[in-house]
Amino acid sequence: MTISTILNKANKLHNLTKEEIYYLLCDSYDDNILFKEADRIRNFYLGNKVHLRGLIEFSNYCKNNCLYCGIRRSNKLISRYRIQPDMLISIAKNAAHVGYKTLVLQSGEDSFYSVEKLQYIIHELKKLNLAITLSIGEKSFEEYQAYKEAGADRYLLRIETTNKNLYHRLDPQMSWDNRKQCLINLQKLGYELGSGFMVGLPRQSLESIADDILFLKELNVDMAGIGPFIPHPQTPLKNVKNNPFRLSLKVIAILRLLLPDINIPATTAMEALHPKGRILALQCGANVIMPNVTNLEFCKSYQLYPGKPLPFDSLEIQYNKISKMLTTLGRTIATDFGFHQKF
Ligand code: SAH
Repeated sequence: MTISTILNKANKLHNLTKEEIYYLLCDSYDDNILFKEADRIRNFYLGNKVHLRGLIEFSNYCKNNCLYCGIRRSNKLISRYRIQPDMLISIAKNAAHVGYKTLVLQSGEDSFYSVEKLQYIIHELKKLNLAITLSIGEKSFEEYQAYKEAGADRYLLRIETTNKNLYHRLDPQMSWDNRKQCLINLQKLGYELGSGFMVGLPRQSLESIADDILFLKELNVDMAGIGPFIPHPQTPLKNVKNNPFRLSLKVIAILRLLLPDINIPATTAMEALHPKGRILALQCGANVIMPNVTNLEFCKSYQLYPGKPLPFDSLEIQYNKISKMLTTLGRTIATDFGFHQKF
């Protein structure tokens, strides 16, 4: 097995075996070769357009207690907030005005937002000529159906890890099988589906990451969000020592080889670990950025992990800075909705 035989195969078939993926995840070759190839494939399939998705973190209440997550139920040290529906709609209006074509509504699993409230919000947001992505966790088929009927276009639900034992250790009271069923239900309902996982979890092997990558390939996701796991000081995993930045870049690049036309964000967690994290991800296969458009006062309390970059600028300045940054990379902001264009 050599790097060039693997990349040649990936280029022809967009498929690799677990062993070949494992080889790419190891350190036995110059990973710049992998990054360059992923960048080339991204450019070939998707060109130089970067899609911006404005992220609204509308509630940090969560009924779950995932060991890795800063907004887990047992964290009594954070102040909890909920953005009320009408305020959320006004944030969305401002973001649409600045030029966003997609908004992502993310929260903990918070039952305050009933189906009726969410339908109302989605309905109002759709009047703004936006694509709407939801990222609000595990719900019943009927709830997903109700949001879809109200106009939601996409859904993000990470599988977190495909290693069931690890999942059940990290997400107590949750069921991996149910999470997978949610992904299948979302696909059945016609959502564009985003999933993904964390890289660098305690006792997560490279074999397991290879399985995670193959899981997303098999599921045929429209979007893959990969983030390094960053230990949060107010969680049981606070003492984990890891440094998964480079490995996360490799995972992004491998996903680009296997799913050449999907949307892959340069996630905020990459930026939290490295000042140029987002830029590097964009150069290793990513084609999406999710700028935070939540008001600073709320956004500060939505700390899934430490070191999250906070949006101090106005929406307009933030948008212009991103546009300039992209220009230096030879890229530009896409003006369409950025749905997954299948080849
Ligand atoms: N409640 C929603 C949104 C979860 S938060 C849901 O269940 O989908 C979004 C993502 O943040 C999670 O899916 C997880 O992958 C990531 N995340 C949480 N804690 C993290 C940490 N400490 N480091 C890195 N990523 C984390």
